[in-house]
Amino acid sequence: MIEARGIRKSFGGQSVLRDVSLTLARGEVVAIIGPSGSGKSTFLRCLNHLETIDSGHIAIEGEVLATTDAQGRCSYVSDAQVRHIGRKMGMVFQSFNLFPHLTVLGNIIEAPMVVKGMKREAIVPRAEELLRKVGLIDKRDSYPGRLSGGQKQRVAIARALAMEPDILLFDEPTSALDPELTGEVLRTMRQLAQEHMTMLVVTHEMGFAREVAHRVAFMDQGELIESGPAAEFFAQPRHARTRAFLQSML
Ligand code: ADP
Ligand code: MG
Repeated sequence: MIEARGIRKSFGGQSVLRDVSLTLARGEVVAIIGPSGSGKSTFLRCLNHLETIDSGHIAIEGEVLATTDAQGRCSYVSDAQVRHIGRKMGMVFQSFNLFPHLTVLGNIIEAPMVVKGMKREAIVPRAEELLRKVGLIDKRDSYPGRLSGGQKQRVAIARALAMEPDILLFDEPTSALDPELTGEVLRTMRQLAQEHMTMLVVTHEMGFAREVAHRVAFMDQGELIESGPAAEFFAQPRHARTRAFLQSML
């Protein structure tokens, strides 16, 4: 579903991604962990084309987004193809990014109407189904300002699902939440994993990584240091840097 090879990215001379490679199979849940500033968000943003890469190769469901030739020249596919590939992925951010002036329902139906040109009558029943799924049908007509952080994030997940993505990218979806509100968001994510949604999740929730993710990848200083099946990764981390990080999370 995702093939990223040799991704490099710098910001003003500072190397933020150094030869990062990761693949995700259909239905797989992969957690990316690592210290702040290690390049986790930038990596997700490159996959989703919120950032461009300097070199490397990205293909989503077998369709090439960007590739680099033997001379090191990186090129992207056409804008139309970039948009087409972008629609395969939904993203959930730490800060929810809901539209404050739209109701919960309005937030969910906005993109399907504007981006996909769907009729309101066609998308509302689907939006209501998604709200039931995340346990927020009673908040259908509320504005985001009236919701708790956990509720906002569940609306953000429903909003991403409304575009019917094949892959969901999560960037620290629970980091902005009070501890007592993380459980409800993690439960929703766990449910999606059980339904075989393909998910790439940047998280500090080691319990989630251990119990829900199939594979875990550790990033440090722009490098993907190691990745492996979740049980193995936590039981026998190979790298000293991984061990030190896991110790620091206890
Ligand atoms: P993480 O998500 O692991 O905390 P980030 O991907 O956000 O790490 O950041 C990695 C590094 O890239 C940091 O040093 C950060 O300051 C830098 N960085 C991220 N985005 C930008 C940007 N738009 N411009 C300049 N530097 C950036
Ligand atoms: Mg980040």
